[in-house]
Amino acid sequence: MKNIYSYPYEELENFLIKINEKKYRAKQIYEWLYIHKIASFKDMSNISKDSINNLINSFSINIIKIKNSQKSKDTLKYLFELSDGNLIEAVLMIHNYGISICISSQVGCNIGCSFCESGRLKKVRDLEVYEMVQQILLIEKDINKRIDSVVIMGIGEPFDNYYNVINFIKIINNPFGLSIGARHITVSTSGIIPGIKKFGDECMQVNLAVSLHAPTDELRSKIMKINDVYNINNLINTIKEYIKKTNRRVTIEYVMLDYINDEKKHALELVNLLKGMNVYVNLIPYNETNYNKYKKSSKERILAFYDILKKHNINVTIRKEFGLGIDAACGQLRAKEGE
Ligand code: SAH
Ligand code: SF4
Repeated sequence: MKNIYSYPYEELENFLIKINEKKYRAKQIYEWLYIHKIASFKDMSNISKDSINNLINSFSINIIKIKNSQKSKDTLKYLFELSDGNLIEAVLMIHNYGISICISSQVGCNIGCSFCESGRLKKVRDLEVYEMVQQILLIEKDINKRIDSVVIMGIGEPFDNYYNVINFIKIINNPFGLSIGARHITVSTSGIIPGIKKFGDECMQVNLAVSLHAPTDELRSKIMKINDVYNINNLINTIKEYIKKTNRRVTIEYVMLDYINDEKKHALELVNLLKGMNVYVNLIPYNETNYNKYKKSSKERILAFYDILKKHNINVTIRKEFGLGIDAACGQLRAKEGE
């Protein structure tokens, strides 16, 4: 039996018809699950007893559990336990413009970028749709507030779990449910070209972020072995096609690793690569971990890099650092738990 939280709205309508329920039950169910946040069919008081029994026999309604959470001034980090005991995490960040959540898409990650904690934990499995949806629901319930935006930037490579991620987005975006606007949802990929191509055909107004992190193949392959499969030239061309097709600006993520990819020449190479494209570069201060040699670039080096991009008319921002001191770097909380 499929989990009720894994059904996009239209798919739920179709399935309800198959089990001899009225189509409009989909709206009732969505309201109970996502607005009233009721996690039991028995409590859906506007549905008849017979129908409730039918629903109980047709859907599973497993939920994930909050195992632990860590708080700092502007960050809340959640560790979730899945029904098979696997652990994943999500981070809530409080901005001046609202609340955002960074969620996981897989248990571990096979892409294995050398600077990333999540990649140290090989992929165990993809997350089911309901396991992504419930990260949001449980956090909304926990803080008793609405989430304004969602980024799929936690553990995992979303385009290695493509269809579940798309269904997840459809569910949280649905106006009868959590109703999180497409423009407030961002998917971050390490540069899986077939995924970017498919994503461009979805006609969703969702934001795409691509983790570039280096301006040359030589350097990128050193820190992201996925570059041996999808190199920079092909990746940039794919991003250009995506922008042309969707007419949407793409975010280029660039993690600042001290004396690795943060030299002046790297900034100039990046300018060359991106000039004329409808992109904006997000410089990410590296969150240091105990398991590799990388250090975070100094403020001065980040600012110097930023200035070069700015001077050459590349849109650029420096990401605000969240959750320092509470293991908020991707994968850190989970990694600790596993030790
Ligand atoms: N797999 C996807 C999404 C999850 S990682 C991707 O790679 O894009 C989200 C972002 O966090 C990526 O840009 C990744 O490179 C970056 N990241 C990973 N480890 C980090 C760390 N320790 N400090 C800062 N950013 C990190
Ligand atoms: Fe996976 Fe993204 Fe980490 Fe790379 S940066 S190992 S793709 S989670």
